[in-house]
Amino acid sequence: MGTASLVTPDLGHAYADALPELVKPWQAAAAPDPSLVLLNEPLAAELGLDGDWLRSPDGVAFLVGAQVPEGATPVAMAYAGHQFGGYSPLLGDGRALLLGELRDPAGGLHDLHLKGSGRTPFARGGDGLAVLAPMLREYVVSEAMHALGIPTTRALAVVTTGRDVARDGGWFPGAVLARVASSHLRVGTFQLTRAMDDVGLLTRLADLAIARHHPDAADAASPYLALFEAVRDAQARLVAQWMGVGFVHGVLNTDNVTISGETIDYGPCAFVDAADPATVFSSIDSGGRYAWGNQPGVTAWNLARFAEALLPLVADDQQEAVEIATASLEGYATTYAAAWTEQVRRKLGLGADASDEVVGPLAEQLAELMRGTPVDHTGFWRDLSAAARGDAAPARDRLLDLEGFDAWLERWRALGPDADAMDRVNPVHVPRNHLVESALESATAGDLAPVHALLAAITQPYDPAGVDEVYRQPAPDGFGAYTTYCGT
Ligand code: AMP
Ligand code: MG
Repeated sequence: MGTASLVTPDLGHAYADALPELVKPWQAAAAPDPSLVLLNEPLAAELGLDGDWLRSPDGVAFLVGAQVPEGATPVAMAYAGHQFGGYSPLLGDGRALLLGELRDPAGGLHDLHLKGSGRTPFARGGDGLAVLAPMLREYVVSEAMHALGIPTTRALAVVTTGRDVARDGGWFPGAVLARVASSHLRVGTFQLTRAMDDVGLLTRLADLAIARHHPDAADAASPYLALFEAVRDAQARLVAQWMGVGFVHGVLNTDNVTISGETIDYGPCAFVDAADPATVFSSIDSGGRYAWGNQPGVTAWNLARFAEALLPLVADDQQEAVEIATASLEGYATTYAAAWTEQVRRKLGLGADASDEVVGPLAEQLAELMRGTPVDHTGFWRDLSAAARGDAAPARDRLLDLEGFDAWLERWRALGPDADAMDRVNPVHVPRNHLVESALESATAGDLAPVHALLAAITQPYDPAGVDEVYRQPAPDGFGAYTTYCGT
């Protein structure tokens, strides 16, 4: 515990070196009185970071960007993106910084990134800041996703800055989130690069993406097409997982779609309560573009934008490149369908012997039974394991079409579902909206206990043991329609 054991991290700057055109060296805004709110000890250990040092005044200064390790080069990253379908030629990290790259003890490379660290050259009209509640929300929801086995950026720490920030007519504690990602490359990074009309730069970016995320593509006959297909498949698998747990990202703009296949940017995201595909939480998504059920389709749309950005690398002849990319994009539907069928096969406790032709329609019939009822998505799936064990009443009580469900049950049970296997894939604990909301409200008022209790529940998503029942109950009557806010 003595100071002699404290180790400051080494941060690389390979991205900034390889692609100086796509970054602006920058530094964080001063934080008058930084105070550590949450530190993700297990993640720090995985990354080989010294938890004692991170908790020390130097470590906390590091986590708000006030103190940069020698040799590091923090940068704001540039990118473009389609926001709700409209193209913004230059977005970039308006309130974030890439501090640098971390090498974990196993050799893996991670971006260490700060959000809420002050205005950058990409801030446009924004104040560059973040407030405590939304940063805690990203922490809680991204850790829930990780615990659910869904690829995601991770939260390392939340630090309050000691400066209040104006939001919605009030003042709220300012905070910085330190997060870790396998990289912050986005479809929007490629869109910006494509628009810069420099094939050499685009090639450098694509080569870096291949080396960092999809190294097998390097050996393919057409490496950049292989890169596209690797991202296509990673995104298809990711979205199938979101659909399985009822996750609604909320702002699936192309700048929030990663090349790694990790979930990124937890703004207005939320988990569905009722299993309604039209579920939208974000206050700005009035058209339902990013509704729960639209995510697979909108991801195909986002991938088409990625394909367009890559066209000059796919073939010299533009027409030929378009034909190749179009054919390749069609593969998304196949990959998504396979990933989704695999999801529901596991959720229904069925093995490989249950064919796609059986599993697909069974899942569709179940979705049909849930549609139009206020059935709690998470609770219903978990109750199905009881049904597999012989007690169908809890699941049945949630539905309206009881005859239809009984007929469905008979078909499903005939396939011999494995209830224990179902309990390993259908969570009991997800960050339910009413729990998140009240925990964040308490945290803003200075009481972190509910956030810690929620974290304890959601980091053991499949196991109810030792966790208060309130963490698996649906929203209380009167919680009403839930609304989330962007850019908070
Ligand atoms: P997001 O909705 O978090 O994906 O952000 C979209 C864009 O808005 C990104 O370029 C962000 O950096 C930028 N942005 C969001 N909030 C702020 C803020 N408070 N100040 C400056 N830029 C912001
Ligand atoms: Mg974003």
